[in-house]
Amino acid sequence: MSTATTGVSADILARYEPVIGLEVHVQLLTATKAFCGCPNRFGAAPNTNVCPVCLGLPGALPVLNERAVEFATLAALALNCRVNERSIFARKNYFYPDLPKGYQISQFDKPLAEHGWIEVPSDDGTKRIGITRLHMEEDAGKSLHDGFPDSATRTYVDLNRCGTPLIEIVSEPDIRTPDEAYEYLTRLKEILLYTAVSDCNMEEGSLRCDANVSVRPRGQEKFGTKAEVKNVNSFRFIRAALEYEIERQVEVLESGGRVVQETRLWNANEGRTYSMRSKEQAHDYRYFPEPDLPPLIVNQAFRDMVAAQLPELPEARRARLISEYGITDQDAATLTATRAFADQFESAARAARNPRRVANLVQSELTSRLKLRSLDVAQSPISMSGIALAADLAEEGKLSSKQLKQLFDTAFETGEDFPAVYEREKPQQISDASAIEAMIDQVIAANPKQVEQYRGGKKTVSAFFVGQVMKLSKGQANPALLNELVVRKLDG
Ligand code: ADP
Ligand code: ZN
Ligand code: MG
Repeated sequence: MSTATTGVSADILARYEPVIGLEVHVQLLTATKAFCGCPNRFGAAPNTNVCPVCLGLPGALPVLNERAVEFATLAALALNCRVNERSIFARKNYFYPDLPKGYQISQFDKPLAEHGWIEVPSDDGTKRIGITRLHMEEDAGKSLHDGFPDSATRTYVDLNRCGTPLIEIVSEPDIRTPDEAYEYLTRLKEILLYTAVSDCNMEEGSLRCDANVSVRPRGQEKFGTKAEVKNVNSFRFIRAALEYEIERQVEVLESGGRVVQETRLWNANEGRTYSMRSKEQAHDYRYFPEPDLPPLIVNQAFRDMVAAQLPELPEARRARLISEYGITDQDAATLTATRAFADQFESAARAARNPRRVANLVQSELTSRLKLRSLDVAQSPISMSGIALAADLAEEGKLSSKQLKQLFDTAFETGEDFPAVYEREKPQQISDASAIEAMIDQVIAANPKQVEQYRGGKKTVSAFFVGQVMKLSKGQANPALLNELVVRKLDG
């Protein structure tokens, strides 16, 4: 799988089966909030994007943002959900300083959408993880516990986030390993980014995940008692928290105890979870239908209008790129990481002489350099049209691989795009056949054993000579010419 992991010990997994279900909250990228006209924007000065509706002042009435319904429906369709023609908003009541109304508008027994699924890779192909429901709700404000001179004794409240439109996506308890949970989340995020309903930025809280996990002895049908882990702010930490939690629960069971149903918090510094509240202290939300909002009707015409906006989704795009451009599964996975990246690749691939070489350059030269500097593809100094030019120059034998690597390095150092660096540096190339032949002669004279091998039938040894001459020419020999001349010399 994608990143190294310590994993749950094989011994534990031989005896116990983990069961995992994920609840994911996603902020929708609408211009305004769910039930009022306040801007829906992250990072504004505290308590500036508020009005009587989102502050819950007496007498203020909510009006549903149609765009939020559109985005939620788009996400639901992309996740293979059935969209209910009629769904109901409900009040979820609880008391907390960041919730001035005293309730959150959500959906309860009649959600917007149900019965979806996401496919994740598995040992024997793919596995479907069920999505129980996708419903709409509003976000709460934020308590600010630190960052102020008097933070030791006070907590401040920022209500800008109150009323931000959310969707909650609840999975079936179909996930069986922390790796599978990681894959599910990765796919989910990809799909949401492709549909552009959210920026899914975990640091800013636009995507948040609660993980439910239990263990049961292998062979037992009945699920074990679950714990819910909250406060986990990256997919990697979710995987780590699940691994920790599985081992903890097995230890409890094996020492004769029983797992209690509770909410636990992940502590990233210590790499463990702590009990926050048990089932006995769990909230009773006293759900009831929201009297200020009519039932939400999503009719066929609206569903069709939204369905027409569905982009080609990541899985389908990967399959198409593989067949259309003849690239590998791995290349396709890298290139479809975001829709913008895939778009750029496709325009470069269409412009370049050999799409496979474009894919190859991205995989071998670009992603490694991006990773090294923790850059996103969107931050790459080298554009896709830059890559297309590099691929063509390499294809035409006008750049050796060493020269190409150097130009890439320079681009990353100076922040220039490839064409600019290439124009300036115009790497020297030796295309004079007699000069190359002289170097070949020199290498042949110095390596009689390899010459013997080649002439004894081991034709692959020619690559050794090409490499040696390339080195001797400081990477400047014209690769196409060099290849040709080496073989001619060795054969002659
Ligand atoms: P609750 O009533 O505690 O909110 P739900 O039945 O609504 O529980 O499920 C919440 C999440 O927990 C879902 O994602 C579901 O798949 C998952 N889940 C339910 N039961 C278990 C279990 N025994 N072990 C692991 N996950 C579970
Ligand atoms: Zn408002
Ligand atoms: Mg529930």
